[in-house]
Amino acid sequence: MTFSADEDFSHQLDAEDPLRQFREQFHLPLTTNGQPLIYFAGNSLGLMPKRARAIVEHELDQWAAQAVGAHHSPDAPWYSYHELVREQLASLVGAGPDEVVCMNSLTVNLHLMLATFYRPTRSRFKILMEEPAFPSDTYAIKSQIAHHGFDPGTALVLVRPRERESTLRPEDFELAIEQHGEQLAAVLFGAINFLTGQLFDLRAITAAAQRHGIVAGFDLAHAVGNVPLSLHEWNVDFAVWCSYKYLNAGPGAVAGAFVHERHATNTALPRLAGWFGNDPNTRFQLHLQPEFIPVASADAWQVSNPPILSMAPLRASLELFQEAGAMESLRAKSLKLTSYLRFLLTDNSTGGLEVITPAEETAHGSQLSILYEEKGKGAFQRLEEAGVRCDFREPNVIRAAPAPLYNTFHEVWRFAQLLAAP
Ligand SMILES: *Cc1c(COP(=O)(O)O)cnc(C)c1O
Repeated sequence: MTFSADEDFSHQLDAEDPLRQFREQFHLPLTTNGQPLIYFAGNSLGLMPKRARAIVEHELDQWAAQAVGAHHSPDAPWYSYHELVREQLASLVGAGPDEVVCMNSLTVNLHLMLATFYRPTRSRFKILMEEPAFPSDTYAIKSQIAHHGFDPGTALVLVRPRERESTLRPEDFELAIEQHGEQLAAVLFGAINFLTGQLFDLRAITAAAQRHGIVAGFDLAHAVGNVPLSLHEWNVDFAVWCSYKYLNAGPGAVAGAFVHERHATNTALPRLAGWFGNDPNTRFQLHLQPEFIPVASADAWQVSNPPILSMAPLRASLELFQEAGAMESLRAKSLKLTSYLRFLLTDNSTGGLEVITPAEETAHGSQLSILYEEKGKGAFQRLEEAGVRCDFREPNVIRAAPAPLYNTFHEVWRFAQLLAAP
């Protein structure tokens, strides 16, 4: 598509946008002048769906009126509340319903997955990650390595961008696998890098890892609700995600995990257990059966009972995804938003800025990372003062993520005007 830098063109794109009515479904934070912020921070915390309040209030009312009785109320019983989001989450990540479970928070789920899938031996004990990785993932991985008595200094292998490059080359990943293959126990990649916005080819990474007998796991924090995923078909071993970024489920919202069917149905796998991972049919028969009997699905990794007040807003948000036609239509608008933003930022007549996020459609999601070599912090502060919310990563990256559910093309135009202004 050919873009124009005229303001009118942005209005035209908004008028043609089939998803434009979804913006009204969200609370838009306001500037001190009472105008909506240009909110390009949905990659950190998605906006609040208006219907989240009613659904949380409903659960508070249930608590007030029925207390323990609400565990088995006919409408959305708490006892199996996690099952209410199962189908929709499965469809967002491209999985079967028995391959996903909504539980805990992201890093906790990463630990639970590694307890099963990282079983190092003296010869095979290394983990391959991308650099830079999100700090929590690095802490988790290093602590897992140390927990098993290995040295993170030698057991953690990092693939990083080459000198003077910002993003990873797929062939460097393959090279690292070739080099460490027989010693690698697991590969753990962020599906979309939090800093550069680079989307990796999960299918290719999984296949390369599995050719060498290595487990392939992914952190979908920046990918779920952002790009289409087909975890089952790609044969991914496991994945984890949070729900407060593109999934708009609120601060600290309950997270999720995917376990491929071939593992999910294997009840013999080692795992950290709790009562909600037990087969519901025998969960309460402790006097008869004191042994843990895992249910033959991803639910077997669910340690505790579902956090209702954290899961309720996720239900509200997932409804919107479904009404929007799930990932296909969202991805179409997202690609248009980012191409338009990239055009305005990088075109010499309007911006002349450098975007480090790869340009190929298969290699990015909603986020563009802008390299602001000089005075990046100053430019970022100017944006904030002008009513933009995005973020700045030291030393020189501005991350902007227009979200297709609630951002407009005119906001993209205004953002680019503000950033390109001297
Ligand atoms: C946001 C994010 C996290 C956050 O972890 P929590 O356990 O939800 O606090 C972890 N990893 C990545 C890659 C992220 O983007």
